[in-house]
Amino acid sequence: MGIDLHTHSTASDGTFRPSQLVKMAFDAGLQAFALTDHDTISGVREALDASKEIGIECIAGVEISVSLGNGSAHMLGYLFDPDHKELNESLEDFKNSRDERNVKIIQKLNDLGIEITLEDVLRQKDDKDEGSSLGRPHFAKAMIEKGAVVSFNEAFDRYLGKNRPAYAERRRATAEEAVALIHQAGGLAVLAHPKWVKAEGKELERLVESLADAGLDGLECHYTDHSEKETQTFISLAERLGLLVTGGSDFHGEAKPDTRLGVGKGNLNIPYELLQKLKAAAKC
Ligand code: AMP
Ligand code: ZN
Ligand code: FE
Ligand code: FE
Repeated sequence: MGIDLHTHSTASDGTFRPSQLVKMAFDAGLQAFALTDHDTISGVREALDASKEIGIECIAGVEISVSLGNGSAHMLGYLFDPDHKELNESLEDFKNSRDERNVKIIQKLNDLGIEITLEDVLRQKDDKDEGSSLGRPHFAKAMIEKGAVVSFNEAFDRYLGKNRPAYAERRRATAEEAVALIHQAGGLAVLAHPKWVKAEGKELERLVESLADAGLDGLECHYTDHSEKETQTFISLAERLGLLVTGGSDFHGEAKPDTRLGVGKGNLNIPYELLQKLKAAAKC
């Protein structure tokens, strides 16, 4: 039972199609789930259609890569209008900046002596939809296929991770811009996995506070990689700042085999009540 408000499909770097995810969420007994692909909503229509057929509540979502303070973060958007013009245009922009970055990563890998082409990476993606997004996990997969590394971890630790030699930056929206964009499209903005925001203690609190001032709606307190203590700390912060509490597994299918839909690494059981509050805030 329960809900899962953070999942990825083949529209970004997950390994199951949106319609398969819907079926899996139903089979897992979830009451509702949200599809939150990286920088794209190209899988949302398929998920919404399948959810009506299968009979499980599905929420339109997205996970936007943003800059925050001196670092980066992920901003989740929920319950927006998937046909909103500005939202779709901005996501197209984000995709273009991703495409430019991807070419830079290929160049860097080639310079490091790894023979790999963009076609090798694109081949890792089942979803050939124009709007689907290509991410570093696809690079990692292609590098394993080429025999350049033996595992995802090695690919990130040696090459693709932040500050590693094949890492390339890209233009990102600021967290505040992403909040405004999601609001424009009628949705709610939630800061994803605060544990992974590169700031600690008071600095993290200050960043979340300034985002709350900028209109942030919620904080993803329940998350696969949050300890019980971290979850409680984030819930207290959300309560103090008047933010909604959300949660999800960050399910990626076989790309992250130890994280399961709805339950994460076994630590999650997210009550439907949190989604009710989210919907009440979005007035739908
Ligand atoms: P991208 O959207 O291309 O920047 O890639 C981000 C995705 O790469 C995240 O969703 C993670 O699933 C994955 N990722 C990022 N850092 C690591 C890492 N150190 N090890 C394994 N996967 C990672
Ligand atoms: Zn991902
Ligand atoms: Fe994320
Ligand atoms: Fe995610």
